Amino acid sequence: MAGTWIEVDLDCLTENYQEVIKHLRPGTRCMAVVKADAYGLGAIEVARSLQRAGCEAFAVTRVEEGLILREHGIEGLILVLGPTTREEWPIAIAAKLQLTISELSWIEELNETGLKLGLVDQQIQVHLKLETGMGRTGFRFSELEELSIALSKSNYLHVAGVYTHFARAAQRDKRYTIEQYERFKSLTNRLEELGIRPTWKHVCNSAAFLDYPEWHHDFVRIGTLLIGHYPGQGFSDKLNLRDPWLAKSRIVHLREVPKGTYVGYQSIYHTKQATQLAVIPVGYSDGFGVAPHFVPQGWIDFFQNYYKKFFSFIRYHGWSRTVRA
Ligand SMILES: *Cc1c(COP(=O)(O)O)cnc(C)c1O
Repeated sequence: MAGTWIEVDLDCLTENYQEVIKHLRPGTRCMAVVKADAYGLGAIEVARSLQRAGCEAFAVTRVEEGLILREHGIEGLILVLGPTTREEWPIAIAAKLQLTISELSWIEELNETGLKLGLVDQQIQVHLKLETGMGRTGFRFSELEELSIALSKSNYLHVAGVYTHFARAAQRDKRYTIEQYERFKSLTNRLEELGIRPTWKHVCNSAAFLDYPEWHHDFVRIGTLLIGHYPGQGFSDKLNLRDPWLAKSRIVHLREVPKGTYVGYQSIYHTKQATQLAVIPVGYSDGFGVAPHFVPQGWIDFFQNYYKKFFSFIRYHGWSRTVRA
């Protein structure tokens, strides 16, 4: 017996997709990000519904996720956003997955894979990832020349795309995001000078898509909005989204308990009056974890903890955010 489950209304999902594409610049397409099992809603069903609604491009984190989509009839472009290993390349190429390149050494090796597999010229579709401020992976300005040399020697590779990812697009203060975009522009200009002209450019996630129509380029990579969530505060007036999922559970135990009954780990809850208690079977196996509860060991500990919390909150949200209960 499934005690706890999520019900997904796929029609709501495709309505969210329609709502997104209504706001695209002419010439821009939506790449549906269905990584992490479509944010938990089921990548196969979500991608199939979106494909039926006209979506032609998808993104996942790992090769394995892309292969599953192919096996289940997803025909359009599938971009693997995360790093890949050489062991995965032959099968990824066979499934026509497009790969993200964020390491110089991969280019020569990937090209050798093309040679070994006896491919035709330009058969391996790749997207170059540029580092503009996320601080994780991607090429920096100083690497571009070497990158262009490596690409010029790699006839099996076709540079289908170039992209970057924003670290703080959902934040109210837009300066960092604008700096990232400026860096993207100078990196792509430099690539062009070096003779590399990717077919497509794409930079926007959900938040940047809403804030910067002028940055839509060839694709916007949208996950959060499709599943009916807004990327942060202050975005909810920009689109009319539907919430496609509902978590449901069965009551497995129902009884009256007196005032002062402790409930659950660490006895965190404590009934304030005689209460009817319903138990539902939700726990670790449903992704509902137990985090350590902070119990200050004296006043210094108490102030230290709240001082840290307060300043990290202010740094992230700024001073003037209105807090609603
Ligand atoms: C997850 C992800 C996205 C989608 O971001 P949302 O804010 O959920 O729309 C886009 N691009 C990359 C590279 C991602 O990893």
